[in-house]
Amino acid sequence: MVLREVGHFIGGEQVAGRSGRHSDIFQPMTGEVVGRLALASTAEVRGAIENAARAQPAWAATNPQRRARVMMRFLDLVAREIDSLADLLAREHGKTIPDAKGDIQRGVEVVEFACGIPHLLKGEFTEGAGPGIDIYSMRQPLGVVAGITPFNFPAMIPMWKFAPAIACGNAFILKPSERDPGVPMRLAELMIEAGLPAGILNVVNGDKEAVDALLDDDLIQAVGFVGSSDIAQYVYARATASGKRAQCFGGAKNHMIIMPDADMDQAVDALMGAGYGSAGERCMAVSVAVPVGENTADALMSKLVPRVESLKIGPSTDPSADYGPLVTRAALERVRNYVDIGVREGAKLVVDGRGFKMQGYENGFYLGGCLFDHVAPEMRIYKEEIFGPVLSVVRAKDYAEALRLPSAHEYGNGVAIFTRDGDAARDFAAKVNVGMVGINVPIPVPLAYYTFGGWKRSGFGDLNQHGPDSVRFYTKTKTVTARWPSGVKEGAQFSMPIMH
Ligand code: NAD
Repeated sequence: MVLREVGHFIGGEQVAGRSGRHSDIFQPMTGEVVGRLALASTAEVRGAIENAARAQPAWAATNPQRRARVMMRFLDLVAREIDSLADLLAREHGKTIPDAKGDIQRGVEVVEFACGIPHLLKGEFTEGAGPGIDIYSMRQPLGVVAGITPFNFPAMIPMWKFAPAIACGNAFILKPSERDPGVPMRLAELMIEAGLPAGILNVVNGDKEAVDALLDDDLIQAVGFVGSSDIAQYVYARATASGKRAQCFGGAKNHMIIMPDADMDQAVDALMGAGYGSAGERCMAVSVAVPVGENTADALMSKLVPRVESLKIGPSTDPSADYGPLVTRAALERVRNYVDIGVREGAKLVVDGRGFKMQGYENGFYLGGCLFDHVAPEMRIYKEEIFGPVLSVVRAKDYAEALRLPSAHEYGNGVAIFTRDGDAARDFAAKVNVGMVGINVPIPVPLAYYTFGGWKRSGFGDLNQHGPDSVRFYTKTKTVTARWPSGVKEGAQFSMPIMH
């Protein structure tokens, strides 16, 4: 097989890497190496940033309607290429093609949001704030900004970052995951085809060296990061130490509470999709089910076990598969190791997927669905993010305990409650210490015109992704207080000016 060489996308074109360092690109469904990715040096990153800085002022001066039109044309191009993008994404990531289309679609929705940028950028105005004095505010782009993104949504998260940033008038440097760079590279090409000037969207591929180069560069004004919590905290600390804006989103341990009055079939369907879809490699995956009361737990387990046992695992190109392989062999071993740990810790492994082999794809990174019962809060499999097709059931004795579990957990990304009782749902939504809540909805990823962000160790920084917060994050506010000469009649004033 001829290995695909992937370099960088700088100044509107693909460029080969010059650092001499590379990493392998795998096809998880077969376990084969299919490509070689160039890892950028600090000097290559600096070159991309300087190029972006030269292009940015003209883009910022392009009126917002014209910037929005680039986004509109980009939407058409993504729609034209949805099948080939989804195929590429599934092959590099491992998720199934229908799931890959969902990944693209949830990114596209933020591009649609960014098409409203002329309206979103409008400032405030107060006429007559004082005699002959008007005050107004305007939102101006920051300059060159960077996004560092994870492997698990290689279409959605890059679009969540670059669409609002670019629509606001910034130039953008994307450092996608080394695991699946193909789709981000193609999206950058499509943006150019849509009319984006060269240098406004750049992709530098790389590892820690490229990330650190972005974090330390004076020309980078803001950094958006999504990935695991320790790296998120590191990126937040290093970026803000040099005065940059930063919003860094981390890992998760999302709970789903099942109240005694819940529709059990609906709850089990929700758990299957949210627990095992995408092989559990979603930051909003449900990894902990919390049935309230022993009867609820027993009823849940009797319906859940046969469903987990009959999960259909398949190659990414099998449209009937429930989920595909994990992203890398290291990820597979890590998740398998967590299942071993859970057994040693005394949790009851009621469905064991560790022995699963995919016929005809023996070297692929597959793991059967695993289900633990009687998981306790002090166990590592409860405290740590596993990021695989492993669901833990923690039996809560009452509602108060079910509310306490996600609230006390160090992660606070998403949570769901399944109930028919509006009062319980309302109380839960108000009190739970987690950023995104689903009521009879298992993966409560808010739509593009709301914002997305977890709490506690799931998010560092103060503004969320997409929605109105993204416009605040990627712009700075300038406030002008204006008085025209005819209003200046009194001469100099030496006491602190106040509005009369
Ligand atoms: P990761 O932290 O390994 O990598 C994320 C990015 O950081 C990549 O671009 C990677 O190249 C870079 N990176 C890795 N190690 C680094 C280091 N030492 N120094 C500097 N940069 C480094 O995460 P991942 O495995 O790609 O993604 C999975 C994680 O992302 C999970 O924890 C998941 O919960 C989380 N995630 C969170 C959200 C959210 O919105 N909260 C969304 C998706 C994924």
